[in-house]
Amino acid sequence: MKRKINTQMMYVAVMAIFATVIALTAIFYNLLKEQVFDDLRSYALILEKTGTSQLPDKDRDSVLRITLVGNDGQVLFDSVADEKEMENHAARKEIRQAFSEGEGKAIRRSETLSRNTYYYAVLLSDGNVLRVAKESSSPFRIILRFLPVLALLVAVLLCICALFSRFLIKSIVRPIEEMASDIDHMDSVEGYPELEPFIRTINEQHKDIVKSADMRQEFTANVTHELKTPLTSISGYSELIENGMVGEEDAIRFAKEIHRNANRLLHLINDIIRLSELDSPAEPTPFEQVDLYDLAQNCVEMLQMNAENHHVKLALQGRKSVVYGSRQMLDEVLFNLCDNAIRYNVENGSVLVTVDEEDDNVFLSVKDTGIGIDREHQQRVFERFYRVDKSRSKQTGGTGLGLAIVKHIVALHRAELTLESQPGKGTEIKITFV
Ligand code: ADP
Repeated sequence: MKRKINTQMMYVAVMAIFATVIALTAIFYNLLKEQVFDDLRSYALILEKTGTSQLPDKDRDSVLRITLVGNDGQVLFDSVADEKEMENHAARKEIRQAFSEGEGKAIRRSETLSRNTYYYAVLLSDGNVLRVAKESSSPFRIILRFLPVLALLVAVLLCICALFSRFLIKSIVRPIEEMASDIDHMDSVEGYPELEPFIRTINEQHKDIVKSADMRQEFTANVTHELKTPLTSISGYSELIENGMVGEEDAIRFAKEIHRNANRLLHLINDIIRLSELDSPAEPTPFEQVDLYDLAQNCVEMLQMNAENHHVKLALQGRKSVVYGSRQMLDEVLFNLCDNAIRYNVENGSVLVTVDEEDDNVFLSVKDTGIGIDREHQQRVFERFYRVDKSRSKQTGGTGLGLAIVKHIVALHRAELTLESQPGKGTEIKITFV
């Protein structure tokens, strides 16, 4: 960035310096021209006043050349050349001008290119034209003469510009560098008001990154802990059986425990994989029109046996309602919600699944008459591994991840999730597809 700004600044500086030099040269040359014509005019006026009878003697090396031209263009006198050998001057620009307008001016380049001749002509009262001429350097020659000074001046100016540009860039970039070196305290750097939205976004992103890193670390710690418990049990029971220290009856009990813990591990691993898939899907999940009622019916049928085992009545009500979403994900949501409603229910309790429309929006509600959730836990149950009653969750095969998966899927469907619960009375979780 620094290099780019520097190059651009120097580019502008070089352009500006050259433009100034060219403009100044042009102004200077014009002034010079005016000065030369002024001198010639003054001299011509003096000659006019003193009369043409007192014209100076011939002098080949004189700086000034005086010519007297008759009204037919014939040269009557020339202070440098032999007038008899000179051609008719009637066609010369300055002479023509003087005859018609009273005075005339012209600049002509001499053969060498390095010198210009300035002519000033004035019409005399006797009808002749008096012309005064002077040689002077051409603009090229003037520039050439001043070239070393000009080059030095340009070089000095460029050096000043380079130094100034460095200083300027440093002061422009310094706040940005300070911000980059200490993202945590970006706000304290006095930057530019234009950068404020940028700083805000970076700050928010930075906070998000830190937060998600913290969450990931916490999740990893939780996963490790959750996996460790069943594995320790499996290892302990199997070691006892291996050592032959248990009777046949105990061996069966231990094997059951091993089986139960192995299943828990499987569920845990499944849920963890599922969550990480939802966090960063390998490929986008295809969304389609899904009949939620149809899906709920399948789920209720599948869990009917489970409900009976828990002495819980499981029923479905509502009507065919189509939503745009992922069939597989919505199936998971239904299963997790119904499974929870059965597991956290009471003897002879009931679960009512409703799929219907309300204010033109399809909703799914799973309502149970179970143990309910205390107000203080109500929001936290959607966190990963958060359980109100750890032992009950574990005993019934919970992983503490079911509702976290539900929340994730609901967010992916841009649906709304609400939980209403009263301890001892029951819980209703409702998802509205807006
Ligand atoms: P788990 O696998 O432990 O059931 P979830 O994420 O599905 O994990 O649920 C988190 C916690 O929320 C549960 O441990 C339980 O304490 C509570 N919970 C979930 N659903 C219900 C419900 N229908 N009734 C009462 N408590 C519930």
